[in-house]
Amino acid sequence: MTDASSPPPTDTNRYLGIDVGGTTIKFGLCDSDGTIRSKASTPTDVLPEPEAVIRHGMEFAHASLGASETLTGIGLAVPGVLDTSTWSLKEVVNLPHWTNRPLLAILEEESQLPCAVVNDANAAALAEHQLRGLTDESLALITLGTGIGCGLAIGGRGLSGDHGCAGEIGHLAINFSTDANLCNCGRRGHLEAYAGAPAVVERAKKAFESLNANEIPDTLLQSELDPRDLSRAAEDGFKPALEIIMETGTYLGQAIGILGQVIDPAVVLLGGAMTFGGEAKSTGRDFLNAVKQAMVSTTLQQVGSQMTIDYASLGNTAGVTGAALVALQKGHKS
Ligand SMILES: [Zn+2]
Repeated sequence: MTDASSPPPTDTNRYLGIDVGGTTIKFGLCDSDGTIRSKASTPTDVLPEPEAVIRHGMEFAHASLGASETLTGIGLAVPGVLDTSTWSLKEVVNLPHWTNRPLLAILEEESQLPCAVVNDANAAALAEHQLRGLTDESLALITLGTGIGCGLAIGGRGLSGDHGCAGEIGHLAINFSTDANLCNCGRRGHLEAYAGAPAVVERAKKAFESLNANEIPDTLLQSELDPRDLSRAAEDGFKPALEIIMETGTYLGQAIGILGQVIDPAVVLLGGAMTFGGEAKSTGRDFLNAVKQAMVSTTLQQVGSQMTIDYASLGNTAGVTGAALVALQKGHKS
């Protein structure tokens, strides 16, 4: 990828990436290397149906194209379970008009261009893969928040699985006992039931019960506790908060160890809302170390010692970039 000071590429093909979320839809017109040349966003409830989103995206793209540039393809990144035989969403939260619609056919019909539909987690993984200059190496991008998602770029291509569920690391079992924590999905022992944001908050509240109220920072005594409050308290030296964060890292590292033994990726990246300050904060760096230690101690030496675990770089533009890159790949194939 290039920054604003780089010379414009001689290639005049442009690709529209659309990243559909439950609250916001993002649009980005990208180069062949995935650099976003212009971007826009709109609340999802203003454009509730796929057709309206695509038309809006086309208008945005044509208004943004330079005189010599051509719109060459469109990629659509969507959340939820994507059936890749019909390119329709089987399960998705907050997008009632998007389920069971043939999204690829609608996209091609509306645009008359080469198009692609991709799971948003895989789109983000592909964007990070490109940013790091990887080629055939495999990369997993794990998104930490209320849920724990994972996008996979295997050999430079997204992997969805036959039922759209490949990389659903949040529902990977890390505790097989009959009284293991109950997950949102109804099963027990899944990673999300230990390391999803609500589970982290629950574990923290439980741990703080054994302390005197005057030992606990005021910010942690509120009922609506958030992992960010834990990060701040840990950063301020409140050890019990740091212990919860380190324990979260251990759970995550164990799950990454399982993932590592199955697909042996070169790079695993952590992103999303719950990174405890990320690389910029000592708590974030401690968290990353806990993840690495747990991964290394549960995998073959060849896997653990060679896997890079790091924070993701692209943030909330990764979906748009990845969608455009998938459109570009599709254009090369056809
Ligand atoms: Zn689950």
